[in-house]
Amino acid sequence: MVKFDDSFSNARVEELHAAEEERLIQSTAPQLGFPYINLKNTTIDPDAVAAISESDSRGAHAVGFQLNKQTLSVAVQNPNLPATQQLFERLQKQKYIVVLYMCSSASLEHGWKRYQDIVGTSAETKGVLSVDTEKTLALMAEIKQKSDVSKRLGSIVTNNNSGRISETISLIFAGALSLNASDIHIEPEEQAVRLRYRLDGVLQDIADLDSNIHKRLMSRLKLLSGMILNVKAEAQDGRFTFQVGDRDVEIRSSVIPGAVGESIVMRLLDPSVASFDMASIDLNPHIEAVLREQLKRPNGLIITTGPTGSGKTTALYSFLREINDEGKKIITIENPVEYKLDGIIHTQTDDGYTFAQGLRAILRQDPDVIMVGEIRDKEVAETALHAAQTGHLVFSTLHTNSAIAGFTRLIDLGVNPQVMGASINIIIGQRLVRVLCNKCKSPYQASENELNFIKEVMSEHPYPKTISTPTTLFRAVGCPVCAGTGFKGRVGVYEGVVMDEAVEEVVVRDPRETAIEEVAKAQKIPTLLQDGLDKVLSGITSIPELERVIEFPHKIEQDTVINSGGSADFESHIV
Ligand SMILES: [Zn+2]
Repeated sequence: MVKFDDSFSNARVEELHAAEEERLIQSTAPQLGFPYINLKNTTIDPDAVAAISESDSRGAHAVGFQLNKQTLSVAVQNPNLPATQQLFERLQKQKYIVVLYMCSSASLEHGWKRYQDIVGTSAETKGVLSVDTEKTLALMAEIKQKSDVSKRLGSIVTNNNSGRISETISLIFAGALSLNASDIHIEPEEQAVRLRYRLDGVLQDIADLDSNIHKRLMSRLKLLSGMILNVKAEAQDGRFTFQVGDRDVEIRSSVIPGAVGESIVMRLLDPSVASFDMASIDLNPHIEAVLREQLKRPNGLIITTGPTGSGKTTALYSFLREINDEGKKIITIENPVEYKLDGIIHTQTDDGYTFAQGLRAILRQDPDVIMVGEIRDKEVAETALHAAQTGHLVFSTLHTNSAIAGFTRLIDLGVNPQVMGASINIIIGQRLVRVLCNKCKSPYQASENELNFIKEVMSEHPYPKTISTPTTLFRAVGCPVCAGTGFKGRVGVYEGVVMDEAVEEVVVRDPRETAIEEVAKAQKIPTLLQDGLDKVLSGITSIPELERVIEFPHKIEQDTVINSGGSADFESHIV
């Protein structure tokens, strides 16, 4: 007598059933006009799988398996299923040329398993990078300097498993967070892919990534950012969130095409880092006193100036926070909104919505305080000045090299100098200089030429100090604490010109920078260079670092080798 084992028979039935389905699909496909495919015998391209999200793929009983430029080959069980049809429409909207194949449910199951390789340990949705928190926190604790990132990348490369992309991405982000990077740059070159971090405002080489993983890495990051995967010849912008522990880091990403492949830059916007209070932006007491007076006024225009990355927006945010209270309506128009402050309405420009349009729309919202991200043209300048004259406190930025150049820039944009007196409160100039690492900075005696330069600048300081001879300055060295850069953190240096009667008069009569500078001296606010040298003299930063961000009136002559105080700075962090 033959005895049946139930489990055996069930498995056997399933097997027979699967074989039958496979044969059925194989024979029906040509009748319906579709090629048949068995994914178990096919090389599946992870890019093709990633082109469709896992939930869409499962919902539509479909799986992408080949991607060649715009052409995406998709295997489906039933082309006539409504969910399947909807997926095709979506893919076509994303500019894919879809080629359909028919496959069995066993093939689908086989294809869906590939999502594990792509998304790593957990289900991933577009816009959120989910990582193993404990592992990432452990990694972050281990990464002390730049070389730790490249060392660990090396060990991932040898460990050739399917989670390699996930591990690489986790490591890139863990490293960026540990080293306090503001931006991550991934740039393909002929031989390798360059990974760089921006640390305290300066780009630093971190490691070379394996060229073989570049394509998959880009697909993954583009997918996360909500970008279209198969568009590779156009620039795209996106964003996603990276969660680790109780930190929520917003990432703003931007991809551009290049000769060797696509480059991506990811900016880390970590709200836990940004406190935006006036105490944290390092105003010197002279300008802080002046600014606090200006912030009490109910109307007028407050402008910060400086190149990109000089901390203008951070300064404006801290001013907004300072004056923010329940009785005020504060609206911003920015490009883009980087941080959201409680109690403040943030709006953003886009392709069809300019600063000028945004500003006009804001004015209809009965605001008390307005922040306009940047004054770039006559229309925005005039609207902002008009708003400032009609009972609004207005904050904005100008892309100029000094506070004084702010006045001439507005005139160049076509603003009538006659109205500037009644609408501008103060123009501030600012830069961020890197702070020497306290663990490794090294003292040296200022050379004669450095000393002469310092004395020359500081003799004009509104609150002169005696400069002793010899004077000790500090230079950058580099150690594990500062990721080998010699610097840790940044500090603001500032200057400002208040619109008083003398400035108002000269702006109308003779708006040359030298003329404005002359009358502004009476306000006794140190210049950028004086504020900066104050910080050099107190050992906060170095002469070469200051020269990196502020144009000196003339070069400091090089002395003998012993005293070439500054140049070591730069060599130390190139290594
Ligand atoms: Zn150090």
